Amino acid sequence: MKYIGAHVSASGGVANAAIRAAELEATAFALFTKNQRQWRAAPLTSDVIDDFKAACEKYHFSPAQILPHDSYLINLGHPVTDALEKSREAFVDELTRCQQLGLTLLNFHPGSHLMQIPVDDCLARIAESINMALAQTEGVTAVIENTAGQGSNLGFEFEHLAAIIDGVEDKSRVGVCIDTCHAFAAGYDLRSAEECEKTFAEFERIVGFKYLRGMHLNDAKSAFGSRVDRHHSLGEGNIGHDAFRWIMQDNRFDGIPMVLETVNPDIWAEEIAWLKAQQNEVAAA
Ligand SMILES: [Zn+2]
Ligand SMILES: [Zn+2]
Repeated sequence: MKYIGAHVSASGGVANAAIRAAELEATAFALFTKNQRQWRAAPLTSDVIDDFKAACEKYHFSPAQILPHDSYLINLGHPVTDALEKSREAFVDELTRCQQLGLTLLNFHPGSHLMQIPVDDCLARIAESINMALAQTEGVTAVIENTAGQGSNLGFEFEHLAAIIDGVEDKSRVGVCIDTCHAFAAGYDLRSAEECEKTFAEFERIVGFKYLRGMHLNDAKSAFGSRVDRHHSLGEGNIGHDAFRWIMQDNRFDGIPMVLETVNPDIWAEEIAWLKAQQNEVAAA
């Protein structure tokens, strides 16, 4: 069973995210549980939590179909102690919000060394940040997203993801989310079924599908290997349709939320329908 959706707006309350996803006929969704450009947010009230849970139940979204994303401000590998602590606190708050909403995953970008510390030190800091946050929360898995490698962002090589996982004590609560645009921009080719086979064989060898907890399905405006993060609508960018058809027809991607972060929300419903249809092609064969 494939769970397919989009990163929908939670404006007006997190329950609205579930309603918007249902309107798209999605079977998965992503959301921010607070304003992603601010450090602080008012705590979730019991009314907000109840409304969210009720909407998820009404539209048949289980926690396995929902992939919340944390704030863009958080840098769990920050080289400066004060800033690192601020990020760690904010990350615990994000995990806590997920826990309160009954959610089991939290997707985040690993972190940046800001040209101030070596890559390995930064990766170790990120793992330590995850350990500290997991110790203070329960039931939510930290889902590390691969990046395009823009600036000093780490996580653009599968080896980075593996190194972070290696440093996490509770392996049952760490996983990864692969963003197809980021992978492609970082130099993992996806332009044909053959290239997808190769890229995901490498993923299996270095990280392992057992850690795959989510996917971001995005085509790329950015060029192959450019380390530039620019998403595009499916089939309209430099990756093309084949990769997304291939993913829909491979059962290693079953049972995890797969969400669009493509550039034109007006066609999300169409994109979701197209993805679902690729999956059915195989079921009918
Ligand atoms: Zn993404
Ligand atoms: Zn991106």
